[in-house]
Amino acid sequence: MIQVTGLKKAFGDLHVLKGIDMEIAKGEVVVVIGPSGSGKSTFLRCLNLLEVPSGGEIVFEGISITDPKQDINKLRQKMGMVFQQFNLFPHLSIMDNITLAPRKVKGVPQAEAETEARRLLKLVGLEDKASSFPGQLSGGQKQRIAIARALAMNPDVMLFDEPTSALDPEMVGEVLDVMKRLASGGMTMVVVTHEMGFAREVGNRIVFMDGGVVVEEGKPQELFGNPKHPRTKDFLAKVL
Ligand code: ADP
Ligand code: MG
Repeated sequence: MIQVTGLKKAFGDLHVLKGIDMEIAKGEVVVVIGPSGSGKSTFLRCLNLLEVPSGGEIVFEGISITDPKQDINKLRQKMGMVFQQFNLFPHLSIMDNITLAPRKVKGVPQAEAETEARRLLKLVGLEDKASSFPGQLSGGQKQRIAIARALAMNPDVMLFDEPTSALDPEMVGEVLDVMKRLASGGMTMVVVTHEMGFAREVGNRIVFMDGGVVVEEGKPQELFGNPKHPRTKDFLAKVL
């Protein structure tokens, strides 16, 4: 579904991504781990062109999206993104938060958008919150709504950037549960997280990034059980 070749990104003199190669298959859950500042967020943001790569190529569903002729907005509709900060619209109800983009961007009729929103609210276990406002929800609930909102565009892949890092510990599980449900439903997912339990249980493949490169990748049992590179060992010793 996604092929990344030689992806580079620099901010001025700061070379953040130094040539990333990665393939993500349909239905695969790829978990990206690595120290703070290693370029994980920049990598995700390049995947949906929130950052313009400085070099290399990204092919998504057979289309080279790094080609400037491509319609970035069309492409973004097929990639849902969930951030550490939930970024819900505070002045809109939960229902309106979820239906806004399908209605305004895709022209889905309101009734249809609301039916779909109710299905998604059920999926994230918040069907009773349609008329609430973001300020009335806990952090975990807000993040589950952010996931539902991203899903409302019917994306082909979901990108998660540390979706539980801003949550109180007791709310982490409910968000990870929603992500597990999505994964078992066959959603293609790229997840940056420090939740190693989730990575081990749900990830089909773990990618360890450090210093703007992929240092090592493999199946969870390989990478966690038998890391090969000293930097991977060092990182895992700190987080496990
Ligand atoms: P991670 O998500 O792994 O913590 P990031 O991708 O956020 O890492 O950041 C990698 C490096 O790129 C950091 O040194 C960060 O300061 C830098 N960086 C990220 N975004 C920008 C930006 N918009 N402008 C300048 N530097 C940036
Ligand atoms: Mg980050």
